Amino acid sequence: ATPTAVMVATGKGASQGVLIKGGSALEKAHKVKAVVFDKTGTLTVGKPEVIHSRPFSSFSLQEVCDLAAAAEAYSEHPISKAMVEYANKLHSKYGSTKDRTMDAKDFEVHPGAGVGAVVCGEVVLVGNKRLMLASNIPISLEVENYVVETEKLARTCVLVALNGEISGAFSVSDPVKPEAGQVVSFLRSMGITSIMVTGDNQATATAISREVGIDAVFAETNPAGKAEIIKDLQGRGWTVAMVGDGINDSLALAAADVGMAIGAGTNVAIEAADVVLMKSNLEDVVTAIDLSRKTLSRIR
Ligand code: ADP
Ligand code: MG
Repeated sequence: ATPTAVMVATGKGASQGVLIKGGSALEKAHKVKAVVFDKTGTLTVGKPEVIHSRPFSSFSLQEVCDLAAAAEAYSEHPISKAMVEYANKLHSKYGSTKDRTMDAKDFEVHPGAGVGAVVCGEVVLVGNKRLMLASNIPISLEVENYVVETEKLARTCVLVALNGEISGAFSVSDPVKPEAGQVVSFLRSMGITSIMVTGDNQATATAISREVGIDAVFAETNPAGKAEIIKDLQGRGWTVAMVGDGINDSLALAAADVGMAIGAGTNVAIEAADVVLMKSNLEDVVTAIDLSRKTLSRIR
């Protein structure tokens, strides 16, 4: 495309809330064969809520919630916010919400898995089953059943280990964005394959992908794994777009031919992307590809 055509298209995109950084993304977007979507905060609303919980050790549910929230208070992850909010609904043995952050030390983020901290002398680990297994924390049959039942319902199960013992399980629900299904079927009509990548488990990911009509799912992927999937697709000669919102998506956004960040997402994702969807509406994935198609066909 000529510099003028790129400028016109960029301006048109901007007026529709689709910010395109540089001409290269615009030049590539019309060739996109696959759109890879992150799940949490991209296909889903990204405002997860704890809707059920169960304590599993001698700690009370309140204690488990408070200790978990103290560790989660340092993380920006949407699940962290859900856990903190849930704990805030309950009274606290370990002090007020404000004090919680003060009591936590040795905070650690395990990207795509959870968080850890030492809170009031208790070693707290919050995250998925994979994180617990990786930390050699035994999973009882009772806990395993809770996980399975939660995931069947397209929910995410968050486990809390205190001093190396599973002490609570939380069922977290994050509804799919209302436009997600339509966007995926529209992309299909454009000859574009839709793929989901997520750090979440296979069962939850599959349940959500069925709801949206996604063609293929890669679950339990870490940030580097997400980027690997993009590179594999590119290795087949495909031009690939990635849509994501999180820190955990930034490697994949950078690896993609066209990285698209959800406007409401984290700054790290926005910086790594070529296109920013300011309205955070998935319909604008189509807007961006369409704009490129129109811009490039006008030149030919
Ligand atoms: P996605 O790829 O869907 O955006 P992430 O890669 O951020 O998801 O996280 C993958 C999974 O890791 C989550 O579904 C959750 O089980 C777990 N997880 C990640 N961060 C946290 C956290 N801060 N607290 C609890 N669980 C977490
Ligand atoms: Mg996300």
